[in-house]
Amino acid sequence: MRILLVEDEAKIASFIERGLKEEHYVVDLAYDGEKGLFLAEVNTYDLIIVDIILPKKDGISLCREMRSKKIDTPILMLTAKDKVGDKVLGLDSGADDYLTKPFAFEEFLARIKALLRRRRSDKGTTLKIADLELDQLTHRVKRQEKEIALTSKEYALLEYLMLHANQVVTRTMISEHVWNEDFDSFTNVIDVYVNYLRNKIDKNFKKQLIHTIRGTGYILKE
Ligand code: CA
Repeated sequence: MRILLVEDEAKIASFIERGLKEEHYVVDLAYDGEKGLFLAEVNTYDLIIVDIILPKKDGISLCREMRSKKIDTPILMLTAKDKVGDKVLGLDSGADDYLTKPFAFEEFLARIKALLRRRRSDKGTTLKIADLELDQLTHRVKRQEKEIALTSKEYALLEYLMLHANQVVTRTMISEHVWNEDFDSFTNVIDVYVNYLRNKIDKNFKKQLIHTIRGTGYILKE
C-alpha cells in the first residue's frame, strides 16, 4: 500500500512517516500543497493524507483540485483546528475522513485502515491463494499454516501480488505501488526482492506460486 503524506511540519511528518513504515506502508512525503498535487498526479496512491494548513496551496484547495482532476484516492485530512466549520469544509472539498491534531498514532492508524478497507469494500482482511495466506490487519503471512517472517518491503510486495493474483503485474506497476519516489528504475531491485520473496514463500514448497513472465513482470497464481 502506497501512501502520499502532504504535511509541512517536519516533526509531525517524520513521526507519521516512521510510524507508517513500521506498519509496512510505502510513504512519499510532500512538504507543500503544490508538490502534493504534482505527486498525486504522476503517481498512483492507495491513500492520501493532507494537512489543512500548507504552504503554496492549502489542504482544502489541494483536495478540491485532486477531485476535479478525477483522482479518487481516499483522502484523510489533518488539522490542528477542531472547529465544526473546518470539518464541513474539509469533507465538502472531497476528503473522506478528518482527524484533529494532536492525535494518538493508534487512532490515526485505525482511520487509515478503515479508509483502505472501505476502498476494498467487503473483501475482508485475509488474502488467500492456494495454501498461502496474508492478513492485512495483522500483517501475518502463513503458508501451509506455517508462519513466514517477511521484511516490510517483502510484505508490501507480496500484498501487492496477492491483491492482483492471477493477473500479470509489470515491474512498472510494482514500482508504482511498492516503492516510493526514491525508486531507481535503472536497478534490478524489484527482481532482487522477488527472489527474496521466492526464497521465503516458494522455495521449500512443492507448488510454486510466483511465476516470471519474461520481459514483462510477474504473476502470482496456482
Ligand atoms: Ca501544516
